[in-house]
Amino acid sequence: MTKTVPDFIYDSLPSRVVFGAGCLDRLPEEIDRLGATRALVLSTPEQHKEGCAIRDRLGSRGVGLFDKALMHVPIEIAEQAREQAKALGADCCVAVGGGSTTGLAKAIALVSTLPILAIPTTYAGSEMTPIWGITEAGVKKTGRDPRVLPKTVLYDPTLTITMPPLLSATSGMNSIAHCVEALYSKDANPIISLIAEEGIRALAAGLPVVVKEPANLEARSNALYGAWLGGMSLGAVGMALHHKLCHTLGGTFNLPHAETHTVVLPHATAYTASASPEAMSRISRALGGKSAATSAAQGLFNLAASLGAPMSLAALGLKASDLDKAAELAVQNPYYNPRPITKEGIRALLQDAFEGKRPVA
Ligand code: NAD
Repeated sequence: MTKTVPDFIYDSLPSRVVFGAGCLDRLPEEIDRLGATRALVLSTPEQHKEGCAIRDRLGSRGVGLFDKALMHVPIEIAEQAREQAKALGADCCVAVGGGSTTGLAKAIALVSTLPILAIPTTYAGSEMTPIWGITEAGVKKTGRDPRVLPKTVLYDPTLTITMPPLLSATSGMNSIAHCVEALYSKDANPIISLIAEEGIRALAAGLPVVVKEPANLEARSNALYGAWLGGMSLGAVGMALHHKLCHTLGGTFNLPHAETHTVVLPHATAYTASASPEAMSRISRALGGKSAATSAAQGLFNLAASLGAPMSLAALGLKASDLDKAAELAVQNPYYNPRPITKEGIRALLQDAFEGKRPVA
């Protein structure tokens, strides 16, 4: 007997994706395809060399490099970059790097409508979303705007080989978190669920090899492919408890983005499990579900541990005395989650994450 198709709404986002080892060679023609002739390249200070290499590849189409991208896009940096784009008469931005650099390109596009060509070098997935974030006076404002969705994305796995094993592990778990929450999103739909499940499968296959053999191109391709699917999931449907908790912990206690996602994900999944059995079986299946008794939450915990990732909020520098405040903040504004949010429940979840306890099946 076939399963009943549920009612759903599916919005597809318009972007062009070019995927494959060596696809960076297509950069000049992809810029031409956008109708652009004056590209401003963006990078972090740490990826200055990569930024220069991209600018050089662009030849006369590259008019400058702004190499001050920073985590969470401080408004001061965004304004400097906007001014430079204007002063150079740039007609597109090329962002080479992780979520921080893509985020800076989005801050420019938000006020200028300059098209973005993104060249992701982590698994954050920002390049597939219309979500922007800018930090002003210590507060990160976020929003959705179709203007900030990159028009073209070049996924070249060779550029991810330099990503250190720890960043690869945590950035990959961050991407898996996008897939996990897409599966029980309030906007969940059959298309995105296929994409999300496949994303978990590809990342779970690639990451264990990536952390042991960072130059293994096949594993890098698998992980980057999964990250693309994770980004699509994040861009297409709303997230839930896990993302809210990570946003609170990152914003208020200044915890590192990808590491926080890695630590919290198994515990947020355990919290939600009873309310989303279908999503949980898809997650277990995608993780390779070695035994039926391995729950989705345990599978995520086992994967993160096998990657050598930090496993507790304590290891990330949170103090036990911060947990009450974190729980309070996390329940302040109501938001969607399949299992209703209670302060006691969240406080217990945070305690487990703080201690890095293995979730119970
Ligand atoms: P990141 O962009 O801050 O990069 C971390 C560090 O790694 C930087 O120094 C960077 O230069 C370096 N790096 C990146 N790629 C490298 C590589 N291949 N080799 C060596 N070093 C490399 O980290 P991230 O985790 O990619 O992004 C996190 C940020 O992205 C957060 O601010 C988060 O909020 C945002 N984000 C936004 C969205 C969205 O949809 N708007 C989605 C995901 C993440």
